[in-house]
Amino acid sequence: TCGFAAIVGRPNVGKSTLMNRILGQKVSITSRRPQTTRHQVMGIKTEGQAQCIYVDTPGMHIMSRDRNKAINRFMNQAAGRALRDVDCVVFIIDRTRWSDEDQAVLERLENVTAPVILAVNKVDRLQDKGELLPWLESVGARRDFAAIVPISAKHGTNVEALEGEVMSRL
Ligand code: GDP
Ligand code: MG
Repeated sequence: TCGFAAIVGRPNVGKSTLMNRILGQKVSITSRRPQTTRHQVMGIKTEGQAQCIYVDTPGMHIMSRDRNKAINRFMNQAAGRALRDVDCVVFIIDRTRWSDEDQAVLERLENVTAPVILAVNKVDRLQDKGELLPWLESVGARRDFAAIVPISAKHGTNVEALEGEVMSRL
């Protein structure tokens, strides 16, 4: 098998960190500063016979009222194109937070026919792990996700499980 997986989410949720973790190298710039990556970054992961091309896709979070600014329009269109031909989408959010930008990303995924996997990142920073289960249920109700996987991209927790979910959908 061989296929494409897009990694989407608002700035700062950990898209680049996840890319680097999956690919085992620093291919994608990570920063505390939002929007460090304006271009798509791709990397190939080979696992036995299976190959997956991961695409770090910035610019999905731009809300409709801001879409007219030239740079925003450019990023938004690039993000839209990237989603047309993927086999699988990994939608990342930051633990138990939900913002307007997360909502904007989710709305951009409405017409995506590829399976969407929800990755709940930064669970290492959750004070109360008991929050997670009810949260997964509430956010899981926002869309019919192919799978929901809590991860820590920074520490690598559960990232292999996430990769398994992606690989099984190529
Ligand atoms: P992006 O804008 O979505 O590409 O986000 P980045 O990958 O650049 O990460 C934004 C910030 O969140 C950086 O400071 C990362 O080190 C941090 N970060 C990413 N993943 C995790 C995680 O699993 N746990 C913690 N504690 N921090 C993370
Ligand atoms: Mg990034």
